[in-house]
Amino acid sequence: MAIKHTTGTLHESGAAELDITTPLRPLIAESWRRSQAAGVPTTAEQVTFHRVADDDLQQRQEANANLMQVAIPHLKWFSAWLANTSHIVYLVDGDGVILFSIGNYDNADAFGLTPGYVWSERVMGTNGAGTAIAADRPVAVMGPEHISEPFQGFTCMAAPVHDPAGHVCGAIDVSTSAEDANAERLAVMAHIAFVIDNELAHRRAEVMATQRIQAKDRLLAEVSHELRTPLTAILGWARLLRKTSLDDTSTRGLDVIERNAFKQAQVIEDLLDVSRCLAGELRLQCAPVALVSVIKNSIDSLQQTSQAKRQTLNLELDAKDLVVLGDARRLEQAISNLVSNAIKYTPESGRIDVRLERVDSQALLTVSDTGIGINSEFLPHIFDYFRRANGASTGRQDGLGLGLSIVREIVKLHGGAIDAHSEGEGRGATFRVLLPLAGRD
Ligand code: ADP
Repeated sequence: MAIKHTTGTLHESGAAELDITTPLRPLIAESWRRSQAAGVPTTAEQVTFHRVADDDLQQRQEANANLMQVAIPHLKWFSAWLANTSHIVYLVDGDGVILFSIGNYDNADAFGLTPGYVWSERVMGTNGAGTAIAADRPVAVMGPEHISEPFQGFTCMAAPVHDPAGHVCGAIDVSTSAEDANAERLAVMAHIAFVIDNELAHRRAEVMATQRIQAKDRLLAEVSHELRTPLTAILGWARLLRKTSLDDTSTRGLDVIERNAFKQAQVIEDLLDVSRCLAGELRLQCAPVALVSVIKNSIDSLQQTSQAKRQTLNLELDAKDLVVLGDARRLEQAISNLVSNAIKYTPESGRIDVRLERVDSQALLTVSDTGIGINSEFLPHIFDYFRRANGASTGRQDGLGLGLSIVREIVKLHGGAIDAHSEGEGRGATFRVLLPLAGRD
């Protein structure tokens, strides 16, 4: 970037006669015109620095906390890059007020280059940050291109920064002595501004996504609560009606009502658990728990379903004395989920093995089956919320894909770990749960 400037001529003749000979000139000429129209002082005697009050500065820094968080690391890097050159790097807000500055130039405060000083073009005339904001583009203001005499010993390279809506919300600037003008720096400055714009947009997108997710989580919790209330009444009345004498049709009707209401109640409980997990509100009521009895309780109610499919449900619970500090109800829920999945995803006459053993200071529970297996693409996602294998989601089995995500959370809350293995479709699945054993005391 070869910018020829004639210090003497510019200085003496002023903006009206500014010679426009390079692509940068129109931008500077426009800036001089705006500065003159605003009546900015230009002589050393007239020029004064404007500084906002401390509380005003503090408010601006708070209002621009996001911009500062994003920009400051880049400005620090830029300043370190210029360690061998006398410089100040700074960030201004949309009004041109310095929010942050860094550098090795000793006279920064005397030249209004520290936080609080105003560098809007309207107030200070053609200058890096102010003109970058006014023109909404990167700009180099080199030595005498500053309309005000006291700044003509400086070269300022600046670039505007934009909020996620694309509006200019500030600028970054590097000021060095006039001789230190260097085209490379403007390019780096412009690139840093571009990166800051992108980071601001990215942060905004993340905040919006989080808010959307939180709104969905709240909806999930509220809807589940709303659904549970009428269902409790349905189940309560069904139980009462059972005690009365009913004809065959009514009894069959009541069976259907109860079975479906129970199913729905289970789905709602899962939804409520998931919303608790998402909110980090799933709590345990911990006490010493003998794992063998928890496993037996979990499996008792599932035996019938397994038998109906003529499956072999084999238990190996030799490690009888294993005790964990945990929530018996939640552990039962987790284990019965694993076993009922094994039953559900294993065809008639298949085999399911439930084994408990001790591994060092942990209990290892293994639930394996000879069922439909899990393909390698789905396996890494098997514990994610609302995830089901393709076959399952196309209606082969019912379920929302919540059970395993709740199991994982319960195991995690107990300080344990869970993993899943399968050799592939049609080759069965194995789930392993490790739980820390309760200490002797
Ligand atoms: P769902 O209510 O759909 O069973 P889960 O979270 O319990 O939800 O399971 C998620 C998915 O993981 C299931 O839809 C199924 O595709 C797969 N899956 C779980 N357990 C097994 C298993 N023992 N064998 C094969 N696939 C399984």
